[in-house]
Amino acid sequence: MKTFPMFLKLEGRRVVIAGGGEQAAQKTRLMLKTEAEIVIAADTVEPELAALAARGRIRQQKGPVTCGTFRGAALVFICTGDALMDTALAGCAKTAGVVANVVDRPDLCDAFTPSLVDRDPVVVAIGTEGTAPVLGRQIKTRIEEMLEPRLGDLAALAGRLRDLVAERIPMKSRRAFWGWVFNGEPRLKHSRGAEREAARMIKEAIEAGGQPLERNEAGFVSLVGAGPGIRDLITLRGVQRLQEADIIFYDRLVDPDLLELARRDAERVYVGKEPGVPSWPQDRINGVIVAAAREGKRVVRLKSGDPGIFGRGAEEAESLQAAGIEWEIVPGVTAASAATASLDGFLTERGVTDAVVLTTGHTREGFAIQNWANHLHPGTTLALYMAIASSGRIQADMLAQGLPASLPVEIVSRAASPDQQIVRTRLERMAQDIEAAEVRNPAILLIRYPKDMAVEKPENAANAG
Ligand code: SAH
Repeated sequence: MKTFPMFLKLEGRRVVIAGGGEQAAQKTRLMLKTEAEIVIAADTVEPELAALAARGRIRQQKGPVTCGTFRGAALVFICTGDALMDTALAGCAKTAGVVANVVDRPDLCDAFTPSLVDRDPVVVAIGTEGTAPVLGRQIKTRIEEMLEPRLGDLAALAGRLRDLVAERIPMKSRRAFWGWVFNGEPRLKHSRGAEREAARMIKEAIEAGGQPLERNEAGFVSLVGAGPGIRDLITLRGVQRLQEADIIFYDRLVDPDLLELARRDAERVYVGKEPGVPSWPQDRINGVIVAAAREGKRVVRLKSGDPGIFGRGAEEAESLQAAGIEWEIVPGVTAASAATASLDGFLTERGVTDAVVLTTGHTREGFAIQNWANHLHPGTTLALYMAIASSGRIQADMLAQGLPASLPVEIVSRAASPDQQIVRTRLERMAQDIEAAEVRNPAILLIRYPKDMAVEKPENAANAG
């Protein structure tokens, strides 16, 4: 190691930042996380810094920067924007005997700022000694995924309870007690937002002299939206649930890579439908989920997109409810959103479309017979799920119901994945173009009816006039 990581106490200590531009602002933001006294040594500062100085959060010191400016400082950042000046000031810092970071000049630095994962008071600092900043950022992203956003609050609570624990819980049991807090029910409850309940559990356990004996905990089921089928479009909360899960039931449309985010020893059960393989009827899926939860397992039901949109989530939730099992929904990016993003488009657009209809070409009864003209008014975007196979009938019905033949239609297959496919066409040629392009499932149709679309009058209407 050419550098050694340490956590510095900065409360009441002076940190000097030489420079008043964006780089200085960046370092200031970082230092504002601490309780340091921040001094900006610069004659002119950019507006963000000026505002902070006006509010008294930082102090601006005008006039020439000298060795005296740095003396006694806990840390010095040098970023004047002038290379010669930076070098001279690095010399001053050395003379003053302070630890200096010269922005973009690793050769002049005594110290580097790490990538931070901030769950104050839990802080993870990542450094690569300047060898591989991109790797540093990747590691940061992985750790961000691992640590739930509220973890710091739980650590702070533990800090406040430390003395009480020392008083009530015998030394030999303390490690197991904290293990339970951070690995057991309290952490789990806390990460799901039941913070008060977690705190109550911990306090009760302290009163009782130790954590409750292991009992067969009631299971818990998370219906998790996996997003459109690509690993980085699941939510952080979804990743968290995957990491907690004992067992995961997943679908055909879920990116297999996503399962790698789960614990190595978690069971993975495929419950999707594939051509040629006997498929899982919905009641069988409901049954195995309930059974796993009854065994006390933490269950994830991973569904493509958002669990609340054409995912049969309601049927699963109903059977959990009936079995008295606790459950929750973790939302996900639905196909309509992912596909629209792939088109660099917008589901709504001020003045053009101000309503979105999500519907399907396939319902429990089979082909969806719908009053399309009811859904598709000027100013509407219609997103059609599960509609590729029946696009011919949908097109015919829409035209028969008087919708304009020239409505723009966009078809996105495997949105957001590396082999995504986009077809742009018009209602009158929709089915033909879907066939010609050999559009594969999963694919979604987006039909836009802009407010001001010029629509040719149907011929008979013109004749009647
Ligand atoms: N719950 C899912 C929808 C499940 S229904 C969601 O919110 O997205 C399955 C249909 O979703 C498919 O027939 C297709 O229309 C659409 N779909 C799912 N993933 C898709 C993707 N990556 N690209 C395009 N369409 C997709």
